[in-house]
Amino acid sequence: MKLFLKYFGILVISSTMLIACKEKQQINENTKVWAWLSGSFISTQPDTTATELLEYYFNKAKETGVDAIIIEVHGGYPKTDSTNITDFVDYEAINIINKTLPYAKKYGIEIHAWIWTTNRCEKNLRAAHPDWYQVNAEGNSCLDIKLYNREHYRWLCPSRPDVLEYLKDRVAELAKIDGIAGVHLDFIRYPDAILPYGLHESRGVVQDKVYPQWDHCYCEFCRANFKTQTGIDPLELDDPTENAEWMQYRWDAITKLTNALAEEIHRYEKIATAAVFASPEESRKLVRQDWAKFTELDVIFPMIYHKFYDAEDIWIELATHDGVEEMAANKCKGYLCSGLFIGHVPIDKIDEMIGYATNGGSKGICFFSLEGINKIPNYWEKLQESITKYKKH
Ligand SMILES: [Zn+2]
Repeated sequence: MKLFLKYFGILVISSTMLIACKEKQQINENTKVWAWLSGSFISTQPDTTATELLEYYFNKAKETGVDAIIIEVHGGYPKTDSTNITDFVDYEAINIINKTLPYAKKYGIEIHAWIWTTNRCEKNLRAAHPDWYQVNAEGNSCLDIKLYNREHYRWLCPSRPDVLEYLKDRVAELAKIDGIAGVHLDFIRYPDAILPYGLHESRGVVQDKVYPQWDHCYCEFCRANFKTQTGIDPLELDDPTENAEWMQYRWDAITKLTNALAEEIHRYEKIATAAVFASPEESRKLVRQDWAKFTELDVIFPMIYHKFYDAEDIWIELATHDGVEEMAANKCKGYLCSGLFIGHVPIDKIDEMIGYATNGGSKGICFFSLEGINKIPNYWEKLQESITKYKKH
């Protein structure tokens, strides 16, 4: 009996150790599951509610098989609206990360700080540097008009060196936090020259071509810069979208900014990622974002929210495929991971949608968002089943 207990004891210890080792195993990048989560509740809700919600979402995410959470720490309505125009540190973002980290550690889930990048609407920044903001082809700054009637649609000019320095500081103050896995760049683009097609009706716009009110950046810096390079003032172009150099100028501005920010994130040995529009072609056309040239990023997440593009489900595969091909042609160092919108992924079609992304060449899969999953009855359970199958592949 004693002998049996001894063996049994060793067995128990061994299995516990095995489990412990298993949890420390590296995530398999090929089937890594990511999810976006809005972090605004952490700063808007009382501490006890925020704590309960963090516990709830991390526990659910772990059960479901999510390996990495991309948590929004800077969004459209940042609280940093003080009149202090000399201190731009995003204390709210740092606070959100610090409150989240214990749960990331407890559940063994990676945490990535999700920030809005060129779309910055902090009131102190707007007061201090109005000249940094983009100007449309009618000569109006996006500070003076409410683009698409959205208060938060205020966009920094990606060509200005001061803007790059400002954004490097914002990225660095997050990347340097111990325990954080990476920094995630969202809204790293121009404002929509054309909105995704499925949104035109609900937003009340007619955009059969690019109209000047939605065409940016014609700020003084960009006009002078482009004129030095080409001898042309872009404001004088009859059809700016037909001018290849002017389109290229704007694509390159975002590409250079993104790659420089990726390098800044890497200085702190953290993972640099970005959320981009669905396919390279649509991204260049709609928001001047040539993301297949974001060569320095570790992971690029095209948000293939296909119904916003009036597209069939199979388009998830086609858009993924186009992105993977273009990234390879441009020798991108990172990989593509398709982002799916829960609202466009019916509960009985989760496997099918993941399948389209996988067939297109997506490495891993990302879901928008944990809150979205939470709103649909039984979605957590169904998603868990699908993820379990996905990870066995
Ligand atoms: Zn500009």
